[in-house]
Amino acid sequence: MGDEIERRDKGAVTATVPWEYAAAPESKEIVRIQDRYGLFIEGRFVDPLSGRTFETINPATEETLSVVSEAGPEDVDLAVRAAEKAWESSWRDLPGRERAKYLYRIARSLQERSREFAVLESLNGGKPIKESRDVDLPLAAAHFFYYAGWADKLAYAFPNREPRPLGVAGQVIPWNFPILMAAWKLAPALATGNTAVLKPAETTPLTALLLAEVIQEADLPPGVVNIVTGAGETGAALVNHPGVAKVAFTGSTEVGKIIRRAIAGTGKRLTLELGGKAANIVFEDAPIDQAIEGIVNGIYFNQGHVCCAGSRLLVQESVFEPVLDKLKERLGTLRVGDPLDKNTDVGAINSAAQLSRIKELVESGIQEGAEIYQPECHLPERGFWFCPTLFTGVSQSHRIAREEIFGPVLSILTFRTPEEALEKANNTPYGLSAGVWTEKGSRILWMTQRLRAGVIWANTFNRFDPSSPFGGYKESGFGREGGLHGLEPYLDLVPR
Ligand code: NAD
Ligand code: MN
Repeated sequence: MGDEIERRDKGAVTATVPWEYAAAPESKEIVRIQDRYGLFIEGRFVDPLSGRTFETINPATEETLSVVSEAGPEDVDLAVRAAEKAWESSWRDLPGRERAKYLYRIARSLQERSREFAVLESLNGGKPIKESRDVDLPLAAAHFFYYAGWADKLAYAFPNREPRPLGVAGQVIPWNFPILMAAWKLAPALATGNTAVLKPAETTPLTALLLAEVIQEADLPPGVVNIVTGAGETGAALVNHPGVAKVAFTGSTEVGKIIRRAIAGTGKRLTLELGGKAANIVFEDAPIDQAIEGIVNGIYFNQGHVCCAGSRLLVQESVFEPVLDKLKERLGTLRVGDPLDKNTDVGAINSAAQLSRIKELVESGIQEGAEIYQPECHLPERGFWFCPTLFTGVSQSHRIAREEIFGPVLSILTFRTPEEALEKANNTPYGLSAGVWTEKGSRILWMTQRLRAGVIWANTFNRFDPSSPFGGYKESGFGREGGLHGLEPYLDLVPR
């Protein structure tokens, strides 16, 4: 340690890493992965009626971790019926303070077993342990705590109206924040008196199945939460089941549109949290070093597998060069590799399919004439990896400026005036998030009033809190999760 190690980048800038860290892998011993998992229906793990299973792997090594059940329509039917029964026989009539007790138990259990969950999350999803440990798990527990607090206060949340639960919520979640998305979906549903059937993503089922154990231990009435594993067909069977009263989906805009069409006219309630192409806007008066950290956190965090990632950087022309130089230098110091190593900044890409999608879009950037930059990067031989990448010379018409890449790839554009920044930022079919970096409070307000995005960060990026609503404009979806707003999609608000 302490040695100056010089790295020669592919580009012109030479980054200097102050020292290399010795490997510091988190032990896997704390996690017990079963060879095989059933479906979690009516409080028990059961074999799938479909008779089908699939393997779930570690994307950093391609090793098989376990074999998971694939729920067919008949399994989904069992799960929805169990949820209906639990709703009618106990959950909907339970006083809020009683429901809250269960939510508090789950929250505490997530805290107590946080390290176990974090290691499993990194093993199955490829994200760096420092993120699963310091971001995903604390936030997941915080979500259950937060909504536990609302469970007995719904009448105060919606004065002059009587809040009534809807019934069974069918919830489909993606692979980028598996346990956190499970918490975002389940906590408000249960707090408001609904029961749930949750379908985790096919590449990351394991922490949801561990959560099923926590739910058993918390002694939730059987059927209040059911967890069915499988891929798109299982998700489709769930959202189309007539017993489901409310659908909550997070994932691609493509599938969001399919779901919206499929349930149109059924009377089912729907919230969609879809893709994004957020602009991170840096003005010339911004604190540059701080902004560099925000840009890096905005797009390289979780390998860019973030719907609200700051995937488009808009830099004011006058500071373009210093920002680019510093950014390139910072890219050279990012540590890519073993997700379980505590020093890792960028982990594994979640799946082979996602990796090929990233490669395809990066290739299109090169073909369309943008200039690519990658630091020197030693990627492991097995597993799915992508080196942190940035593009300059990007124009609005390039695919890398328009399409969601969902990988560690930043597209840089420039602007001269606030009006131009605004016009470029809003020039996208998406509208999930945005970032503004400037010293001027008045400019922050001017921008936030005009940016068409659900979440806007000022002089920071990718910060989350359970009390703060999250959701999109335009093709990024509708409905809000988190905060007081996050209760509404799970309630009928009847005038008193
Ligand atoms: P996806 O939308 O296909 O998958 C998300 C979830 O939906 C998974 O649980 C999946 O099994 C389920 N699903 C798939 N088809 C379904 C259907 N017809 N009905 C019901 N459920 C269905 O996403 P993907 O294929 O894993 O990723 C593709 C792209 O989507 C990514 O490159 C990224 O751009 C985007 N994405 C966005 C988010 C987000 O958080 N907004 C999350 C994941 C992926
Ligand atoms: Mn898909």
